Formats: sequence, structure tokens, C-alpha cells
Amino acid sequence: MTNILDGKKIAQKLKDNLKIEIENIKLKFNRVPGLAVVQVGNVAASSIYVKAKTKTAQEVGINVFDHHLEENTNQSELINLINQLNNNKDVNGILVQLPLPKTINEEVVLNSIIPEKDADGFHPLNVGKLSISSKNDENIMIPCTPYGCLLLLRELNINLAGKNAVVIGRSNIVGKPMAQLLLKESCTVTTVHSKTLNIKKICKNADILIAAIGKPEFVNKDWVKEGAIIIDVGINRIKINEEKSKLVGDVLFSDVENKVSAISPVPGGVGPMTIACLLRNTTTAHKLKYKY
Ligand code: NAP
Repeated sequence: MTNILDGKKIAQKLKDNLKIEIENIKLKFNRVPGLAVVQVGNVAASSIYVKAKTKTAQEVGINVFDHHLEENTNQSELINLINQLNNNKDVNGILVQLPLPKTINEEVVLNSIIPEKDADGFHPLNVGKLSISSKNDENIMIPCTPYGCLLLLRELNINLAGKNAVVIGRSNIVGKPMAQLLLKESCTVTTVHSKTLNIKKICKNADILIAAIGKPEFVNKDWVKEGAIIIDVGINRIKINEEKSKLVGDVLFSDVENKVSAISPVPGGVGPMTIACLLRNTTTAHKLKYKY
């Protein structure tokens, strides 16, 4: 029987634990973690993500500071806001929703968030810490999506050490940190990308296959080893007909479902885990600030 990794359920468990943790923090210290959510402009998908993150943060007891700026906001105005948030003691995590308008340099903006409040785990210092620390340290800010993937894998209660793990994709937000996390679990890790030769053959050798490509239903059963574990990070909207569309992953689920031992579905797999991990990072930042 294929194990379908229910990200909604696993994320709910994580959120329930965070809620209890935050209630205890409040009782003990009379303060709760705060998350600033910054959106520039009105990209529809960003508005949906921001709404979901805000709602979920409030559900677990995190204070949310919403900053929705006009599309024509310039880079220095945005950085001014981030500087204010960096200095605001009630804000423990800062999230800038991407993409930003083309006139703004994303890297400059993300690097202006102090590492202690880097809720997404994208700051070079946090990236460096992730790469240097020998274990998967629960006290550093870890990029939310790959951390969510790791927590899904941990739900399987298997020994990850020595497993042959292949990550498809080398982006800074998913592929690279994913490879780091798996390496720290003592997997043997290969990262493949658009220039990789013999990519299918490499993937077919994977005990664990992470697909973070951004190409709808790209990976089919010819890429997959019998009994492999698949984590599908992709979120792609495809048209069914003139009026309707649906979300699919980077893996052709129906094709591989009966060949693999476990797989995360899209939607309902990695997506909910990403949000839960953002809240976890915010709570970790609060913990580190007040040293409890
Ligand atoms: P990205 O920055 O576009 O990176 C995609 C990666 O896939 C690149 O490294 C690229 O290789 C590689 N790639 C593209 N075409 C390929 C091919 N034909 N063969 C092999 N590799 C190929 O995307 P991303 O930000 O990492 O996101 C990946 C997917 O995850 C997207 O669908 C995104 O929507 C989704 N996502 C989901 C969540 C979530 O919460 N579930 C969060 C973030 C992203 P090169 O480097 O050589 O170009």
C-alpha cells in the first residue's frame, strides 16, 4: 500500500503543538511571538498566500503585523519599513512575500532583514549556519519549504541515513537547502538540474526523490525506482478546459502512485507544511531572543 503523506494533517499536528507552546510562553512571560507580513502590490497568488499565512499565524496565537504596500512603492521606502520592523521589539519574524515588483531588487531587500528576524531563512548568515552546522539544529532559521519536506519524511519513521536522495532543482529557496538538510540526515545526496546529463537514470536510482522543478507532471514512472519515496514540491496551475483549472505537482501522481512506497500529493502535501514551518521559525526567533 502506498503511503500518501497527508501534509494537511501533519501540519495541523505541528500547529497544535505550536499553539500549546505559545500559550505556555504567554502564561510564563506575558508576551507572544510577532510576525510582520509585508506584501508589495496585488499579485493574486501572493494575496492568497499572505491571507493563508496571516490566518494560520493568528490561529496558533502569533501576533500578526500586516503591511500591504502600493505597487509603486520604491526600494528605499520598503527598506525603511524593514528597518523599522528590525527595530520593533514586538516583531520576531519578518516575511516579505515574493515576488516583488520588477523595480525592486529582491536580494537587497531580503538581506536588509536582520538574520534574527529572518522568518524565511533566506539571509546569507542563516544559509551559512544551515550549511555549517553538522546536525539539523532546531535552533536555526531553516527555509520553510525544504524543512517542511524533511518533516514529511520524518513522519515515515524510517532511518534516512545512507539513503540515496536525489533533489531535482537547485533554487536557493528549495533545492539547495533541501540538499543540505538531507545531507545532515546522512543521506547520499545528488542535486540535478536543467543541465544534468542522464537525469532520468540518476533519478531512477533514488530511494528518496524530491521534485522542485516548476514543470507540471514532469516526472513520470520511468524516472522512479520501485518502492521509492517521493516528495513533490511543485505547485503548477493547469487548465482543464476554458473555465476550469487545477493545481498539480511536478510529478504525474496517477502514473507513479502504485510504483512508490510513499508520496506527497499536490495539493495537500508540502504546501501546508511550508506555512507551519514559517510559524515554527517565528516561534524559534522569539525563543532565541528571550533565551527560554
Ligand atoms: P525555480 O527557482 O524555478 O527552480 C527550478 C529548478 O528546476 C531549477 O534549478 C532548474 O534548473 C530546475 N529545472 C527546470 N527545468 C528542468 C528540467 N527540464 N530538468 C531538470 N531540472 C529542471 O523554482 P523553485 O522556486 O525552486 O520552485 C520549484 C517548484 O516548487 C515550483 O513549482 C514552485 O511553485 C514550487 N514551490 C512550492 C512551494 C510550496 O510551499 N509547496 C514553495 C516554493 C516553491 P536550472 O537551475 O538549471 O535552471
